[in-house]
Amino acid sequence: MFKKILIANRGEIALRVIRTCKEMGIKTVAVYSQADVNAMHVRMADESVCIGPAESAKSYLSIPSIISACEITGSEAVHPGYGFLSENAKFAEILGDHEIKFIGPSVSHINTMGDKINAKNKMVEFGVPCVPGSNGAVNNIEDARITAREIGFPVLLKAAAGGGGIGMKIVFDDPQLETLFFQAKSEAKKSFNDDTIYIEKYLAKPRHIEIQVFGDGKGGGVYLGERDCSIQRRHQKVLEETPSPGVSAEEIKEIGEISANAISKMKYEGAGTIEFLYEDKNFFFIEMNTRLQVEHPITEAVFGIDLVKEQICVASGEGMSFSQESLEPKGHAIECRINAERLPTFSPSPGNIKEFHSPGGIGIRMDSAIYNGFTVPPHYDSLIGKLIVHADDRQMAVRRLARALDELIIDGVYTTLDLFKEILNEEQFKSGEYNIHWLENWLTDQAQ
Ligand code: ADP
Repeated sequence: MFKKILIANRGEIALRVIRTCKEMGIKTVAVYSQADVNAMHVRMADESVCIGPAESAKSYLSIPSIISACEITGSEAVHPGYGFLSENAKFAEILGDHEIKFIGPSVSHINTMGDKINAKNKMVEFGVPCVPGSNGAVNNIEDARITAREIGFPVLLKAAAGGGGIGMKIVFDDPQLETLFFQAKSEAKKSFNDDTIYIEKYLAKPRHIEIQVFGDGKGGGVYLGERDCSIQRRHQKVLEETPSPGVSAEEIKEIGEISANAISKMKYEGAGTIEFLYEDKNFFFIEMNTRLQVEHPITEAVFGIDLVKEQICVASGEGMSFSQESLEPKGHAIECRINAERLPTFSPSPGNIKEFHSPGGIGIRMDSAIYNGFTVPPHYDSLIGKLIVHADDRQMAVRRLARALDELIIDGVYTTLDLFKEILNEEQFKSGEYNIHWLENWLTDQAQ
């Protein structure tokens, strides 16, 4: 087992990884930017190294700085968390060159899945159902027109290198296509330095259902149920729950087995998520994330498994502690992503936390790195905490969440807390009959 792990991240996820390392008796190294001198992950780690100025490009995304921090501290492995360098194949490769273990899948798996066109091709190979669309990249407007007509409007233009819901364009008819095609290309170039575009059928009312998978890197692969992430704003997840209130256990078993099979065949190592859209009882693959997800705690809650511990065990060569047969989900879990943002515009609201009180009691988990007096810096993602509840069934989980939201106090910055209180009161949420557009439509109604 590793003796020392460096965590190449900040905020709640850095703290989350440190917590598991401590329980495993592994020493931890935090890295931080000048804006994070007083951050909780720095306080909680055994050692810490400043890796640069506030700007992420010069700190949390600086591969040379992180490699140096590993060398100075004698770290044997790096946990990348999510975001930043977590899906950067170059980073994993350079770590390998320095004989530092990247806690995650192989460079080639990160590479393949990082390009959504390659990812889809790979999944087709393993019999995973995909969204109908172009056969690979669409290089010019003529091809775009032919493909769009073939699959039928509306269609979605997507960036092969895309992420974070950026650069997707819905096209409703032929006349719109040309303008949006070039817009999508230039946005993709700007955001990802890669203007490769592909086309998918735009599904009208799907749910976002993702399967948590885990591989031992030697051909063993399992799935740990699903997460329903349909409550979204601008294609970004806001609230997640498991099990999904809109998909049956039999359907999950079927798509779960298909997913686990793909993982086994690939000889995938560590944690991954295979994302699907689900409509009219069909699953359609959209992408695979080769890292731990923000919403992983709801899976941990129902399966009673520490996914970070499993990641570390697999990376160290000790292997996973569970098998498909030993997995037994219990109850229902929901996560709310609490952002320092001002409603109703969702504009970022960094600043000083004057008061923070975390909810507690049975079935509550608050993953956050904020504390009284902490100043949320303006330079990074606005996620400041994740409230996770677990209960015997969905109804009880919703009640527990309402109770916990009432207990949670964050003063000093604006937060999205009230949004969740309102969502919980909505009939469509209570009944579980929502799709990926529900929140967006609801927000539009509220604004009128
Ligand atoms: P990203 O990597 O940018 O997050 P994804 O491919 O994971 O992009 O898609 C993010 C979200 O965009 C999905 O959860 C869904 O809400 C929406 N989306 C993606 N593809 C489609 C599609 N073909 N039809 C309708 N909505 C889609």
